[in-house]
Amino acid sequence: MNSHAAALEKTVHTTCPYCGVGCGVLANVRSDGTVEITGDPEHPANYGRLCSKGSALAQTLGTEERLLTPHIYGRKADWNDALDLVARNFSEAIDTHGPDSVAFYVSGQLLTEDYYVANKLMKGFFGSANIDTNSRLCMASAVAAHKRAFGADHVPCTYEDLEEADLIVLAGSNLAWCHPVLMRRIEAARQRKPQKLVVIDPRRTASAELADLHLPILPDGDRALFCGLLNYLATSGHLDSKFIEAHTSGFEIALAAAAQWDDEKVCQATGLTVHQLEAFYALFATHEKTVSVFSMGINQSSIGTEKAGTIINCHLATGRIGKAGAGPFSMTGQPNAMGGREVGGLANMLAAHMDLQNSAHRKLVKSFWDAPKIAKKQGLKAVELFEIVRKGKIKALWIMHTNPVVSMPAAAKVEEALQTCPFVVVSDITSNTDSARHAHVLLPASAWGEKDGTVTNSERRISRQRPFMQAPGKAMPDYWQLAQVGQRMGFGGAFDYSSPAQIFREHAALSGKKNTAEEGIARDFDISCFEEISGRDYNALKPFQWPVHKFGHDKSRSRSFADGQFFHSDKRAKFIEVAPPIGSALAARDRERKQFYLNTGRLRDQWHTMTRSGLSERLCAHLPEPFAAISPDDFKEMNLQVGDVVTLSNGLGLVQLRAFESDAQKPGEVFVPLHWSDQFASNARIDKLIKPDPDPISGQPAFKHSHVQIKRCSGAVYGFAVSRHRPRFQTVDYAAAVPCAGGWRLEFAHHRHLKKQEILHLLGLDELVSAQLKCFSYTSAQGGERFGLSNSRSLQALVFCDAQPVKVQRDYIVELFTQPLPCGSDRHLLLAGKPAGDQPVKGPIVCSCESVGRYQLEAAIKGGAVSLEELVRQTGAGSNCGSCRVELGRMLDAQHQHA
Ligand code: SF4
Repeated sequence: MNSHAAALEKTVHTTCPYCGVGCGVLANVRSDGTVEITGDPEHPANYGRLCSKGSALAQTLGTEERLLTPHIYGRKADWNDALDLVARNFSEAIDTHGPDSVAFYVSGQLLTEDYYVANKLMKGFFGSANIDTNSRLCMASAVAAHKRAFGADHVPCTYEDLEEADLIVLAGSNLAWCHPVLMRRIEAARQRKPQKLVVIDPRRTASAELADLHLPILPDGDRALFCGLLNYLATSGHLDSKFIEAHTSGFEIALAAAAQWDDEKVCQATGLTVHQLEAFYALFATHEKTVSVFSMGINQSSIGTEKAGTIINCHLATGRIGKAGAGPFSMTGQPNAMGGREVGGLANMLAAHMDLQNSAHRKLVKSFWDAPKIAKKQGLKAVELFEIVRKGKIKALWIMHTNPVVSMPAAAKVEEALQTCPFVVVSDITSNTDSARHAHVLLPASAWGEKDGTVTNSERRISRQRPFMQAPGKAMPDYWQLAQVGQRMGFGGAFDYSSPAQIFREHAALSGKKNTAEEGIARDFDISCFEEISGRDYNALKPFQWPVHKFGHDKSRSRSFADGQFFHSDKRAKFIEVAPPIGSALAARDRERKQFYLNTGRLRDQWHTMTRSGLSERLCAHLPEPFAAISPDDFKEMNLQVGDVVTLSNGLGLVQLRAFESDAQKPGEVFVPLHWSDQFASNARIDKLIKPDPDPISGQPAFKHSHVQIKRCSGAVYGFAVSRHRPRFQTVDYAAAVPCAGGWRLEFAHHRHLKKQEILHLLGLDELVSAQLKCFSYTSAQGGERFGLSNSRSLQALVFCDAQPVKVQRDYIVELFTQPLPCGSDRHLLLAGKPAGDQPVKGPIVCSCESVGRYQLEAAIKGGAVSLEELVRQTGAGSNCGSCRVELGRMLDAQHQHA
């Protein structure tokens, strides 16, 4: 610890707000208000580890971007006026057009207590089930598959199973980037014992680089792959007939469907060879302790529920469920997707894992809530919801902590929907989102570090998210906002909440209500042990896994289904019969039409639409612009050059991105990160191009399987710049900007030459030029223009333009912003775009925790760092969260191949 650091005032145990791993975090608050974030060594999800995003949380706590006060029609307002207006508009819509004329679109960022109140208000008091959540986009297919197979939305495994397993199958999951701490746990297990890793993914991802076997499958080929596996298990004598007989139903029908798949058909649909299939099938067949992790690559598909069902089928067929180191394991993307499921935050669920279609469940919930009415039918799932909004049928819509204008499929149509809706409320921590710009009422919400409640991670573990800072301005918790509206709409006592603990008690009590076989409404979710928890005990609550019924925690149930008892009425798990897919014919046709499969996904260091991770300059240093990853063959065929900008388009729209040659891609496929919004790029909202083509059972859209055409853009000017001010880039063809130390770094390109005034506008500097900024400039022999702007104290901007993609040392230029302004003519040296002489440069950042660049790593490898450990020791890269270790390994391999 720095000896000059202010005294430690308190350490608060809380939970990371990013992904579904749900890592425990310690927030160390010092007397000067600074906060340090470290992993909680006692939290069973991570035992002290954090990934790059979790490690950079302290960088996202600033209030510069925060929404601090309510706004009504763009004007600051007080809470009373804003809440009255919201209540009035929702009441009028319900009175005039009925309860289904209003909707909530909420988020896995909400705490369980917030979610509970939102769901209660909509389903019990408005009488509609029009509440859906962005978790619909992430794991609804897993929910549907669990319910079909197990009779309840129940995740059987725990994280310890990942360590106990002898074989891990990652299906549609880039765990190394999307759930990094779990990959670290797997890596540690692999050092202790011989554990095999199979990765099924069209791309050679960071996870695939660690695998013993990578299956670069065709999009949506998984269904055929796992049907083929079931067939193989049956014909090779690897079924657990006793388990099938005693604990399941529907096996013969499922097997008959699988039997339609001979190797040839599976090869066609998956794009894999017989040899690859056999290698995988033999591994699966011979490893009793197998965990199959599945995530967005399975769920985000128009056949997502079936794909997840085929994975579960193979586990049921081998009895590999409810045992240590075995089971199908759905990994959720969001920090509280599971908590939302528990309170019924999806349009087709009730509360506490009860069913909207079940009249006994409806009666129980209505009476428990003392609600005037209860929704009787399913509400609108996300895709249908925004379509109905666009048709003008939703008169009042409340969006909480999510950004559908960026994250929904056919995102431009979603934007139209918000423009059409007569009354849109947005609760968020910032007004700088693409959705908030369409709000009639903006409500400032408490953020992570201020919020108080619980979240549930992917292994059913409920942890506290505790506040360690005061909310700034007039920001208030979401449950309070909802309860205030409920009270103003006349539902008084039912929403008289004074603390999250009170809501948690109610939620716990509902979960245990009549929850026994004798009372006839037994269900899996039960935390009734906490129905009388005191405020003090709630504050001190340690992470725990449900179920925890009234009589205490039965530890043997932390790994579910150990007794072979499932939640269908016959207590048996059900095999799912799946239809044969069509794969290869489609693929061939698409190639003929010169179409590409568009696959979208996450980057290692960004989160969703960057509203939080985009505040961290450290996270933004890794892959700082939106890109389209294209295979070397396609790159060559399209005659693309490094630094080119490309257009991706289809009938739904067009985006512009940097072309990036990647040998992780197969020909005919293109990968684009999902994070970029209009706040960080001129035209990179990739979800504009996603077909709103949801799975008919789960309603989850297919984000990984659209078709696009790719065209090179001819640019007359390309540029790189750093500026102290936030760029305004909507007027150029291609621009992307992220924060860097002391300002912003910007990439841009345009089809015609840009005048200096236009560039100044782009840099957010035009009004400041009159404020006596000094300009120094330089024109290269090739006509490249470079200039800098400074005031008397510091550099304000550096701009590098050329007719070709600009070749300068970007990370060196970014660093200049942190240095004192050179005197007089020395300022021109800043325009060199690279350091003088043999001064070392970092190069593009590889390790964001320790800020280590590619050139530093290459120098260390050339200097003799032959092993990963040596490279880590010499450079510091990979010594914190370890998320970059795969990239370090790849660099070492490349060097060895070269040598
Ligand atoms: Fe947060 Fe990373 Fe842990 Fe996910 S893996 S919860 S992002 S620290």
